[in-house]
Amino acid sequence: MYRSEVTVDLAALRRNARTLARALDAAELWAVVKANGYGHGAAHVAGAALGSGATALCVATVPEALELRREFPGVRIIVMGPAGNREIGHARDAGLELVVSGSEIPPGIPVHLKLDTGMGRWGLAELPVPPVEVVGLMSHLASADCDAAFTEHQVERFRAATDAHSHLTRHIANSAGALRYPSARFDAARCGIALYGLSPFGTDPAEDGLQPVLHWQSHLAQVKQLQPGESTGYGRRYVAERPTWIGIVPVGYADGFRRALTGTEIRVAGEPRRVVGTISMDAFAVELDRELPVGTPVVLLGHGVLAEAHARVAGTITYELVCGIASGPTRARRTVVDG
Ligand SMILES: *Cc1c(COP(=O)(O)O)cnc(C)c1O
Repeated sequence: MYRSEVTVDLAALRRNARTLARALDAAELWAVVKANGYGHGAAHVAGAALGSGATALCVATVPEALELRREFPGVRIIVMGPAGNREIGHARDAGLELVVSGSEIPPGIPVHLKLDTGMGRWGLAELPVPPVEVVGLMSHLASADCDAAFTEHQVERFRAATDAHSHLTRHIANSAGALRYPSARFDAARCGIALYGLSPFGTDPAEDGLQPVLHWQSHLAQVKQLQPGESTGYGRRYVAERPTWIGIVPVGYADGFRRALTGTEIRVAGEPRRVVGTISMDAFAVELDRELPVGTPVVLLGHGVLAEAHARVAGTITYELVCGIASGPTRARRTVVDG
């Protein structure tokens, strides 16, 4: 029996893609599938997004793009991060598009020039007159999830710097920008997190018409009653005050169930229950209100358990939680469902 099971719901992903495409109006939806599709499986996600309104794929590295190229021969694939010299050759051969943040523009490959309008990371301070290789002009929003004034400032800087080249494809919006800032739409938006049904604002994704794509389930592998004064887990961080039933779930931080998730709520037999004690590498404990049989289903994520709630408890963002879920023969089994 697998210790846990991840289900990726492509039908939900298609609905999210259509929701975003509608919100974007005339601008194109580009699906960001870096980091293995935010842990969801890049190829599956890419295929579903392309079939539901997305017109291009965005990744961070050339190797990620080359892998996708095998499955999607005719599709635009844009590499958003920097590429080394050898990689540029591979990218050219594979018909990829590159993002350039420096003064050297590689010949013979379509590029997007990146302007730094306030992210303070990759990007040029000033745009040169674009040479022929340039097909797009872009920038990246630093705080579209939380700071409207700074976002509008970035959008206006981008508009002012690129208005003279409006025949090129202009793009600055991420998911938060696409959902909340019509002024940021330009010709395309690079959407990641919202495609996966997770809120870029850390709120309930349903508020933006989004549905979580990833569900993560396990089961109670052991059930026991702690007597008053008895504890569970390393450091004895949870000590029972009265006779207390607990269940042990065979998932831990090595699976991506972060150690900082103590106190978060999961569902056991459909009911919300609190994670208690220190999360170990391969197991954690959940407080029960009664004795339950071994094998009782446990929902760690999805089906009403929001990644946004876990992220708040762990002091992180949903992006990091979903990217960190491990799979493979010794970890979660992965199933892709469609419909
Ligand atoms: C990851 C990334 C995105 C997507 O951001 P989301 O918040 O996931 O929509 C867009 N643009 C760039 C440059 C990125 O690195």
